[in-house]
Amino acid sequence: MSEILKAVKGMNDILPPESARWEWLEARMRSVLQRYGYQNVRTPIVEPTALFVRGIGEVTDIVEKEMYAFEDRADKHGQAEHLALRPEMTAGVVRAMIEHAFLREGGRRLYYFGPMFRRERPQKGRYRQFHQMGIEALGFHGPDVDAEVILLGARLLKELGLVDGEHVRLELNCLGELPERRAHREALIAHLEAHKDLLDEDGQRRLYTNPLRVLDTKNPALQDMANAAPKLLDFLGEASLAHFNGVRAILDAAGIRYTINPRLVRGLDYYNLTVFEWITDKLGAQGTVCGGGRYDGLIEQLGGKPTPAVGFGMGLERMLLLLEEVGVAPAAPVPDAYAIVPAADGLPRVMVALEALREAGVSVVLHPGQSSMKSQFKKADASGARFALIFGADELAAGQVAVKPLRDATAEQQLRPLDAVADWASALRNA
Ligand code: ATP
Ligand code: MG
Repeated sequence: MSEILKAVKGMNDILPPESARWEWLEARMRSVLQRYGYQNVRTPIVEPTALFVRGIGEVTDIVEKEMYAFEDRADKHGQAEHLALRPEMTAGVVRAMIEHAFLREGGRRLYYFGPMFRRERPQKGRYRQFHQMGIEALGFHGPDVDAEVILLGARLLKELGLVDGEHVRLELNCLGELPERRAHREALIAHLEAHKDLLDEDGQRRLYTNPLRVLDTKNPALQDMANAAPKLLDFLGEASLAHFNGVRAILDAAGIRYTINPRLVRGLDYYNLTVFEWITDKLGAQGTVCGGGRYDGLIEQLGGKPTPAVGFGMGLERMLLLLEEVGVAPAAPVPDAYAIVPAADGLPRVMVALEALREAGVSVVLHPGQSSMKSQFKKADASGARFALIFGADELAAGQVAVKPLRDATAEQQLRPLDAVADWASALRNA
């Protein structure tokens, strides 16, 4: 026997019945997105490496350590492109907007679902291929859109059965604008310099390149130093504060609860003004189920006209883990009917009848191959179907099928005409 090949470490197969939970989650999410007027985008999984270097920032974990980047084969001129599997999708969406001049006629509200790739240490809630649902509202300045993005996220969580305050909580911060961050940065560097001996290798290196990121640490030894660091909120000017207060006023009016976390800086460098995360305490260190914020600088940074933007990314594996943890279990979809076929000679008529049922919207599973009646009934039962359709020789000879209720002991088996499926098909359908 040959050696068995396995999936790449940190990359998972999603098989039934687990895949049904994914479809349920995605359908729920789409329903919410549609109610806010968001439209779907799909961009390539592979992009030029430079897109992420420019769009995420060179001094980030993602670009420094986690990206699957490679050199493509050389073309006939000997030129090889530097490509990467996307670690996130905002940069790709923005590239597509610029490339297709998609924001010329005004703003856009977009959403995506898809796999992302990061070479992290795999553990519960952290994978090398994982999936995100994300939204991007491009071309809108005001705090109304920041608030709307947060409200949409809150509705997603609520409609999935998660309870604010019990299962998830919202953290909010305002990163201000560049001059404010610069003033804060100087004060922060002075603070970090005074505690330089505490910093690990990464911290020492980032002290001058990206000091804000030094605070974005999971190292417990650095918590006190990070807590005592100068806070960006204290450096915000009038306009930034007005924006922040505008967002807060809407959230307050809508009854969305949040805590302001001055240390919330997000892992990516292109955010400004509003940043937020939805956090759960139920998944250990992988507690962030959704993170987002405003990134008014990114579009210009990627070569487009300066355009404001705000969005979030939600980790679908973490959402499903959380839903399982708190006992939200979507009902697995079951077929309306299961077709029992005792003998092969009736198959052409049976299968034509099944097609007529499907045409009428009935979901019906054929028992493949004609095994014993006992085993066919067993399979019918296990399928969860509400009816068995018995295509016996006698029934077929009379142009009929026996419809046997499987989940209702009081209901009787009935004979139905095969040439008038439309008359009775709706009785099988799950309303
Ligand atoms: P973390 O701090 O947990 O590494 P992050 O800040 O790197 O998260 P983002 O880049 O903001 O995450 O991605 C948005 C969401 O995608 C996260 O909130 C999380 O739910 C999910 N996510 C990120 N990385 C992974 C991963 N490796 N495996 C599974 N989900 C992930
Ligand atoms: Mg990360």
